[in-house]
Amino acid sequence: MNTQDVFDLIKSHQIEMVDLRIVDPAGRQHHVTIPAVEVTDELLEVGTPFDGSSIQGFRSIEDSDMIMRPILDTAYVDPFFSVPTLSLHCQVFDPNGTRYDRDPRYIAEKAESYLKQAGIAETAFFGPELEFFIFDDVRFQSGQESSFYFIDSEEAAWNSGSAQDGPNLAYKVKPKGGYFPVPPTDALHDIRTDMVKELMAAGIRIERHHHEVATAGQSEINFRFDTLTKTADNTMLYKYIVRQVARRHGKVATFMPKPLYGDNGSGMHVHQSLFNGDIPLFYDETGYAHLSDLARHYIAGILLHAPSLLAFSNPSTNSYRRLVPGFEAPVNLVFSKGNRSAAVRVPVANISPKSARIEFRTPDATANPYIAFAAMLMAGIDGIRQQLEPTELGFGPLDKNIYDLPATERAKIRAVPSSFESVLASLEEDHEFLLQGGVFTKDFIQSWIQLKRSTEIEPLNQRPHPHEFHLYLDL
Ligand code: GLN
Ligand code: MG
Ligand code: MG
Ligand code: MG
Repeated sequence: MNTQDVFDLIKSHQIEMVDLRIVDPAGRQHHVTIPAVEVTDELLEVGTPFDGSSIQGFRSIEDSDMIMRPILDTAYVDPFFSVPTLSLHCQVFDPNGTRYDRDPRYIAEKAESYLKQAGIAETAFFGPELEFFIFDDVRFQSGQESSFYFIDSEEAAWNSGSAQDGPNLAYKVKPKGGYFPVPPTDALHDIRTDMVKELMAAGIRIERHHHEVATAGQSEINFRFDTLTKTADNTMLYKYIVRQVARRHGKVATFMPKPLYGDNGSGMHVHQSLFNGDIPLFYDETGYAHLSDLARHYIAGILLHAPSLLAFSNPSTNSYRRLVPGFEAPVNLVFSKGNRSAAVRVPVANISPKSARIEFRTPDATANPYIAFAAMLMAGIDGIRQQLEPTELGFGPLDKNIYDLPATERAKIRAVPSSFESVLASLEEDHEFLLQGGVFTKDFIQSWIQLKRSTEIEPLNQRPHPHEFHLYLDL
């Protein structure tokens, strides 16, 4: 795409507004809108100024001028405005014209270059699977909150057999029964189809959509893997489109990892593989689960650095309410061919050399995809450089049900971290692997830890939790 292509798009789609977007460190998108008649070559080539001090995790007030410059290849005809609109992702620059090193997309781009420059592989492919809930808006109105904190009210009704006393539960999804009865039980089918059509219109290749396991409208739509930064762009667009279509239907889509107590949470499993040209580097017919040595080292890097890596792949207090036993979320720091409680799963059904890959199951969609994918790649690269062996490090493979193992074996298996505080503390100690090749800067890591502690952990810790009333009101 060059500037002329953008002007052609503006003309052919009778675009009236051009919407420029950036992603902040936490992963929220921000935008500024320019009338299409005011769009010039210079705007497309150089960008437009914005106030960096208003973006959490960017600049301070005394040093706030920044530039957002559109990435022409990301031009997308956005159907969610009242007038024809063209939206573009942007790169962030300092006023002096250098790339801003807290721009999440810059970190992703640098991670891809580093992979090549270190001579490890030409390309890293990433394929995330995002799960989300679609709720009725009414669930967020006052008086309804209790089901979020205590036991799911529908589950209580099913369990007690008193469903007939409550509202009509006919064709309602039972707890953990969402995967995957046909309609009328699957009442969200048409909304997901509408989402899929908008995603396809945006140029994202869709593989399938389905209801997920949880009771209350949990969904999944899978899009095709691509290179790291491109996949992060697609992930941002995916989340935007899913939310917008839900809203079109009077619903709310949320990617928060554990909105309902007692039912499955939402993950963002991330499939990963390395290639040189079209030669797949993760496949070896003779290896365990057809994995190459390189793939095993990559896995070991991910598992070894998991305690700090999760500070980017599971970066919310809510993330750790999902990583508990019993809900298909990973709880063990091991790899395995089939076991869904393993942090790294190796898909083996229908595997060909080209589709050989690993699936890191821990992440959730509160992650900023640019930063999280870059951090995963850096952990994998570190495993490759050090030729780490997962088995020597106690990371499996574990193909048995963990509860059938003798106690001594079970004791050796490490658990995934259990709190956001702990992974931020681990990141303070273990981040050399991220600094290689200047992909992450110390400044970025420090500002991330500070931002997350001050805006999420501390405010939450200082508030009485609704469940504390249940526990302590009568003490
Ligand atoms: N929802 C599960 C998770 O939290 C995954 C369920 C699945 O895709 N099998 O990761
Ligand atoms: Mg899936
Ligand atoms: Mg799923
Ligand atoms: Mg999966």
